Amino acid sequence: MAKINIDQEKCVHCGACTAVCNSAALRLGGDGCTLTFDENRCADCGSCVKACPLRAIKVSTAVRWLYA
Ligand code: SF4
Ligand code: SF4
Repeated sequence: MAKINIDQEKCVHCGACTAVCNSAALRLGGDGCTLTFDENRCADCGSCVKACPLRAIKVSTAVRWLYA
């Protein structure tokens, strides 16, 4: 399960990240000033990170243990 970190100081609520999120994990509130994230919907695709013009989003994935 992914978690994202939104830098609220950088975010200008442009909606670019919500537009590319196919899972509707990211949504802009009705007031246009609130960005919400639902980690249960997040597919860990990274699209929002690439879409943000201000680099306000970071995604951290859950630790995966790999055995050779
Ligand atoms: S794309 Fe970046 S600046 Fe725009 S709403 Fe998303 S986090 Fe905020
Ligand atoms: S990583 Fe993908 S699924 Fe998760 S919030 Fe960003 S765009 Fe949506």
